[in-house]
Amino acid sequence: DRVLVGNKVSEGHVNFIIAYNMLTGIRVAVSRCSGIMKPLTPRNFHQTKKLAFDYHGNELTPSSQYAFKFKDYCPEVFRELRARFGLDPADYLMSLTSKYILSELNSPGKSGSFFYFSRDYKYIIKTIHHSEHKHLRRVLKDYYYHVRDNPDTLVCQFYGLHRVKMPISFKNKVKNRRIYFIVMNNLFPPHLEMHTTFDLKGSTLGRYTDVSKVDEDVRPVLKDLNWLEQQLNIQFGPFKGRKFLTQLKKDVEFLSRLNIMDYSLLLGIHDINAAAASGDDIPAMIPESSGKFATKLPNNTNNTITKAVGGHYFQRDEGGIRASDSENRDLNIIYYVGIIDCLTNYSLLKKLETFWRGLSHDLYAVSAIPPNDYALRFYKFIEESVTRDKPHTKNE
Ligand code: ATP
Ligand code: CA
Ligand code: CA
Repeated sequence: DRVLVGNKVSEGHVNFIIAYNMLTGIRVAVSRCSGIMKPLTPRNFHQTKKLAFDYHGNELTPSSQYAFKFKDYCPEVFRELRARFGLDPADYLMSLTSKYILSELNSPGKSGSFFYFSRDYKYIIKTIHHSEHKHLRRVLKDYYYHVRDNPDTLVCQFYGLHRVKMPISFKNKVKNRRIYFIVMNNLFPPHLEMHTTFDLKGSTLGRYTDVSKVDEDVRPVLKDLNWLEQQLNIQFGPFKGRKFLTQLKKDVEFLSRLNIMDYSLLLGIHDINAAAASGDDIPAMIPESSGKFATKLPNNTNNTITKAVGGHYFQRDEGGIRASDSENRDLNIIYYVGIIDCLTNYSLLKKLETFWRGLSHDLYAVSAIPPNDYALRFYKFIEESVTRDKPHTKNE
């Protein structure tokens, strides 16, 4: 199982060229799309822009170490989305491009997607399947309006949709391959340790991470059965609990309407007391300018939790949201929470299911239920996990 500590992608690394091209393309495309923002038109939701890179460069594109083609989808829409999510255009470019340090998430999952972090760990690039790409384009307008009408949405924040086309050799044959990818928010902050991480779907089949089988020095991502086994709750008092569940309900209804399923609630738990007790020894994830990973970061204790005003409700405390007790008083736990992997539409999963069944693999057998049933089951699972008025069972 994946954890959020990456391997550095450097020259010589198999995926270095792909990552390099992705970043070069983003830099040029994003900086090109920078005039005065005009109100979006229906056309903007179908717009695409193509760039061709080569060693020599031309008036449109600077020279690039490798030859490749880059396609930017709906640049104006994503630009506006980034603004709505509160991103500063210059910072965005800096994070993704200033130096070609990226790190790759360990071992890709069964979907075959690759994940890269931006050098400051604020953003994640995820390669996606062509059908996921098609689905995002199809629903982009709905997504845009949902984000506009729900500034505190828990649904994954998409910042860009792109394609790189380049020659890749596979089994001694060089072919022009198209790689689709999205840029999204890293739900977890670069400066704080996640003491526990859960990926929750509301289903139980195969949803167990055997911690004894994971390396000791990596924190595994735990799943639904681990959650039930540990009898954990999301500790929110009545106020936050209501706010969270109201938003979650709107979000799953939205996803269900778009025929999407197989998404998860990603939940990172930062324990402020544990962090304070362990002193400065936070495994840092910020690469230093040398390209090496820093080992020490400033400690963060209770007194230094910064509360952002305005902004996203569930990202107001150090980029997350503090747990609270039955009287709505803050607890020493910060949650980082969002809905991820939300580009799988039902018909695609049905296809995959048939495919896996053929390989006598029933990973999707129980997963692949219609979007509405998926949404209900998902919501119910999370709803039952929110403490609200119940007494706390753990971490008290
Ligand atoms: P599969 O379809 O097999 O579930 P996938 O390749 O589609 O896998 P995701 O489910 O999107 O991958 O993500 C896998 C893991 O990567 C998550 O469980 C989580 O640990 C991490 N991850 C994904 N998106 C984010 C994000 N936005 N912020 C932080 N971590 C993330
Ligand atoms: Ca997933
Ligand atoms: Ca997936």
